[in-house]
Amino acid sequence: MPLTVNDFERDALATLTTYASIECLSPAFDNEWEAHGHLDAAVNLLAEWARQRTLGDFHVEVLRLEGRTPLLLVNVEPTNDDDATVVVYGHLDKQPPLGEWSPGLAPYQPVRRGDRLFARGVADDGYATFSALLALEQLVAAGIAHSRVVVLIEASEESGSPDLDAYLDHLADRLGRVELMICLDSGALTYDRLWVTTSLRGLAGVELTVEVLTRGQHSGSVSGVVPSSFRVLRQLLDRVEDATTGRVLLEELHGAIPSHARLAADAVAREFGDELTESLPVVEGLSLMGEDEADRILNQTWRPTLSVVGMSGIPAPEVAGNVLRPFTTASLSFRLPPNVDSQLACAALERALSTNVPNGARVTVRTHGADGWSTPPLAPWLAAALDEASRQSFGRDAGFTAEGGTIPFLASLGRRYPEVQFVATGVLGPDSNAHGIDEMLDLPCAVAVTNAVTSILVAFNQRKAGS
Ligand SMILES: [Zn+2]
Repeated sequence: MPLTVNDFERDALATLTTYASIECLSPAFDNEWEAHGHLDAAVNLLAEWARQRTLGDFHVEVLRLEGRTPLLLVNVEPTNDDDATVVVYGHLDKQPPLGEWSPGLAPYQPVRRGDRLFARGVADDGYATFSALLALEQLVAAGIAHSRVVVLIEASEESGSPDLDAYLDHLADRLGRVELMICLDSGALTYDRLWVTTSLRGLAGVELTVEVLTRGQHSGSVSGVVPSSFRVLRQLLDRVEDATTGRVLLEELHGAIPSHARLAADAVAREFGDELTESLPVVEGLSLMGEDEADRILNQTWRPTLSVVGMSGIPAPEVAGNVLRPFTTASLSFRLPPNVDSQLACAALERALSTNVPNGARVTVRTHGADGWSTPPLAPWLAAALDEASRQSFGRDAGFTAEGGTIPFLASLGRRYPEVQFVATGVLGPDSNAHGIDEMLDLPCAVAVTNAVTSILVAFNQRKAGS
């Protein structure tokens, strides 16, 4: 019997709702997370719920490595003689609220409307602990023999997973021979099928400062004499991005687009047309980039892009005086193709932005990078299992999509377990608003993803070596 929304309500909703009320921000957004104790409250709550599951021979633990965020580990012992391990991944830390939520909604006061639950962290990624363990509980209840399954819920994901590697090192022996990773923290294009993420872009963050004066001067007396830091900045930006087309100009930031990615982009564009871009809140009359939908999908998932995400050294217009300002700082966010090395990209950006600077202005460049990721080719058993899981839980074949965002832990898991099969999926579909205001979990989708995880685990246990 597959799980229903009623089952989910009975077994999970109360605890998920309590979790939704906890301000368990990721450490990057709460320096004093240790003193505040919200992450501890969340992990203890989830661990307590996990201990009440019926999972045969299983063990729930909260790990706390020195100076690291806590990690919830649920180890379900195998009931067959297979020595492989399946790891199911999720996270419990949250993004900040971002801004004012819509009337009637609030980040830490969960509200249910119909089949949707609104609060920060419910979909990204609070539901994951519940989905993972309810999926396992179904397997156990059905008496299906299974291999070892380890559910691993970390608490530093929204900060770029700085603590995950330490835990993976710590747990390496206990995890044993990992053969399948299921990551429940990814996106979905629609709520009508199981969406599997095939790749993610990487990231190069650049903080670029151009200084021309040690203190500001009257623009009436020095303009035309002292070059403006903004103009120098514009020239530097022109080295890395074509201002007319938005094409990133450094070859080190481009990767070859594989033919399967082009085919997948064509397929999604054929099925959805401009549905995917229609809902964007663009101003009237704006023309989008790219030649057509398929081209836009590739722009968004396999090509490098630049967004200027912050600036300083510039007063707000209402307090701006006629001053030639001493400096301008820009925060540049480059998305990188899945197959580009972020360290090489950062080095290329540093060179381009700091060599032969116009007018000899003083330039400081600080960079940080995160690699993208693309899934290893699917084993035939898994390709079949994903479609079967999607048909059973949603009523149609699985969908495959490349994502434009960055999830550092997938790159780190990919490096650590290069031979392992990956299923990256999730409930972050239309209007789920992860990272934005009004975050929402679609309960039927969470339930269907849970059922899909059960089917994938069943298929894993039936797989034949080498198939
Ligand atoms: Zn997430």
